[in-house]
Amino acid sequence: MFEIIPILAFEDNYIWLLHQHGHALVVDPGDAHPVLEVLDARGLQLHAILVTHHHRDHTGGVEELIQVTSAQVFAPAKEQFSFPHHPVTAGDRLDIPGITLSLSVLDVPGHTVGHVAYYGDGMLFSGDTLFGAGCGRLFEGTPGQMYSSLQQLAQLPVDTSVYCGHEYTERNLAFALSLEPHHEALLSRREATAALRAQGLPSLPSSMALELATNPFLRCHEPGIIAASKSAATDPVSVFAAIREMRNHF
Ligand code: ZN
Ligand code: FE
Repeated sequence: MFEIIPILAFEDNYIWLLHQHGHALVVDPGDAHPVLEVLDARGLQLHAILVTHHHRDHTGGVEELIQVTSAQVFAPAKEQFSFPHHPVTAGDRLDIPGITLSLSVLDVPGHTVGHVAYYGDGMLFSGDTLFGAGCGRLFEGTPGQMYSSLQQLAQLPVDTSVYCGHEYTERNLAFALSLEPHHEALLSRREATAALRAQGLPSLPSSMALELATNPFLRCHEPGIIAASKSAATDPVSVFAAIREMRNHF
């Protein structure tokens, strides 16, 4: 099958590299250098670059990687990019040359208006939409958009592995526990995450089952989250908007 390697960039970005038989793809290369090091060290050829959204910490390495590797770039159709790319949108399927993997594109607006996620073979590359125990900030979209994007992801099979764009899990768990201090699944996730981080290991990938059980942004219909949100309106979008705002100031 294939191997997936987390490449750390900047403070807390993950560039996910997937490879099989010497062929590789990367997701959201904010920086080319750590990617080129891994390609070089392992003798891999880069065939595809998948971009989830236009932020620089996810795209900064694309131009250089194109020059050095001639990889094809896939990026959201609803956003602007300075590099040549195949625009992708919901329902598109990507077959990656050299790798027996077919990925489908999901439109998940909210963090940015054109944000996409890539899903296939039990893996979700969620960019800055779904994080471990959290979700992205609403830079461009509305709470309603982000809520339905997260709900769309929540419909994926529970054994889906979730590969997020940042290592934010510990901070997100601290916030989630501020809402529900005695939540058992959260407490055990905090322990498991702390053990991984203490060894210098990523907290990711997560699984959809774990996110459904612990991520407050996927649990806006549950009494504990509704109460903690202190929202006057108790519909899930209002609850989501309230806790997303609380997280901004946490
Ligand atoms: Zn972003
Ligand atoms: Fe980011």
